[in-house]
Amino acid sequence: MICPFCSYEDTRVLESRMSPEKACVRRRRECENCQQRFTTYERVEVAPVMVIKRNKTKEEYSREKLIKSITGACMKCKVEHENILEIAVRIEFDIFLPGKKEITSGYIGEKVLDYLKPVNEMAYLRYLSVFKSFITTEELYKEINSAGKIYADIGI
Ligand SMILES: [Zn+2]
Repeated sequence: MICPFCSYEDTRVLESRMSPEKACVRRRRECENCQQRFTTYERVEVAPVMVIKRNKTKEEYSREKLIKSITGACMKCKVEHENILEIAVRIEFDIFLPGKKEITSGYIGEKVLDYLKPVNEMAYLRYLSVFKSFITTEELYKEINSAGKIYADIGI
């Protein structure tokens, strides 16, 4: 990144923040030459990506649908809307940055689980049980046991 003040070529990133609403990354940079600070915004270029569903049909990726599915799992789990948006944005980075043209719904599902788990265990388990509807009861219990504290959360 070239410094806009002195055109020096090396700038240091001081801070990177994801902006969920705008689906971009905001970076504070400092020029190593003149020490001026400035901000850059990196945006994911969105080319249509097709999602291959479990029944082999395809449909265009939709952030709205993704958010809806995450929101469904987060109901009554005290997850902020902003957290859900952030998960969606992170997934979009995973999808769009490598320049994929097609992905499977399973890929998205696994990513949701990865990002949802540290946010809310209960929502994670709910998403898991919907996403892996073929999962056996035994497997679900294993997940619940590894989640331990969940019992306290749901009052069991
Ligand atoms: Zn400079």
